[in-house]
Amino acid sequence: MTLFAAGTAGSLPKPFWLAEPGKLWPAWRVGGEALAEAKRDATLLWLKAQEDAGLDVLTDGEQSRQHFVHGFLEFVDGIDFVNKVKRGIRDNRYEAMLPRIVGQLGLKGRAHGEEARFCRRHTTRKLKFTLPGPMTIVDTVADEHYGERAKLALAFAELLNQEARALAADGVDVIQFDEPAFNVYGQAVLDWGIGALHRAIEGLACTTAVHICYGYGIQANIDWKQGLGPEWRQYETIFPALAKSRLDQVSLECVHSRVPPDLMGLLAGKDVLVGVIDVATDRVETPQEVAETIGRALAYVPKRYLLPCTNCGLAPMRRYIALAKLEALGAGAAIARQRFG
Ligand code: ZN
Repeated sequence: MTLFAAGTAGSLPKPFWLAEPGKLWPAWRVGGEALAEAKRDATLLWLKAQEDAGLDVLTDGEQSRQHFVHGFLEFVDGIDFVNKVKRGIRDNRYEAMLPRIVGQLGLKGRAHGEEARFCRRHTTRKLKFTLPGPMTIVDTVADEHYGERAKLALAFAELLNQEARALAADGVDVIQFDEPAFNVYGQAVLDWGIGALHRAIEGLACTTAVHICYGYGIQANIDWKQGLGPEWRQYETIFPALAKSRLDQVSLECVHSRVPPDLMGLLAGKDVLVGVIDVATDRVETPQEVAETIGRALAYVPKRYLLPCTNCGLAPMRRYIALAKLEALGAGAAIARQRFG
């Protein structure tokens, strides 16, 4: 494995001809076969751009999904998407229209097989695929059937495991579960969140990861961060348990955050995907800055465990700003290899 192998947290902006730009739940611009074709074109374009930027671990940029949670839920039986209800999510940080769990859950078939195999055919680099984590899914639906969050999480974990095993068979190298809710419900992470993740990765031969962030660079998150105080210590509760977990990698927020960097030291033995690109600002980092952030993280993460990454997904950003940030990430990792390798 390349030293400082760089990649993104997962999502990338959709081109204007695929979906409305700048939105978290964008409407598709076209339908039917035209939509399927546009999704493939956008995926191909981002694979090429990530390779050109010098990234080592590529994703499909979630070009085929409207949203990182609902993109998976579309393939799950037992959910009513027609009669949604408005609820506060992430401990009431913002309101969203939530689909309702109305019966026994089951997979309708493969969720992401086509796009995973399409990516595999078009790159020889490492391929990472993202899925929503069980706790974050539970926090993004309205349950009217299971009655208990932990029980619902396990039900979703079983379905995620089915899809994850199939993705590994499709040739995916890394499967990452996105758990932004871990930063909100610390005690529940210990009580059942990590347990549900263990169910989701059961029997997986590929590398497994969990991404825990403070959210996309949208206004509701920026406002929330203002109220978290001078030091964000949420990771302190969950990292020791993750260090003992069976997951291989932890993706976290670092640059420009108020996370005390020494908390990364709590993840001894794990690959740490260190956020060196800020997704909450349009200002593009320079490669030198990226290399310096990597250098600072080396005080807490041994170099063979340090994988430079973005703080979060780049989905709501403007496309060419996101592209410039990927280029800074790749170039910064290259400088770090020379300087610290
Ligand atoms: Zn994130």
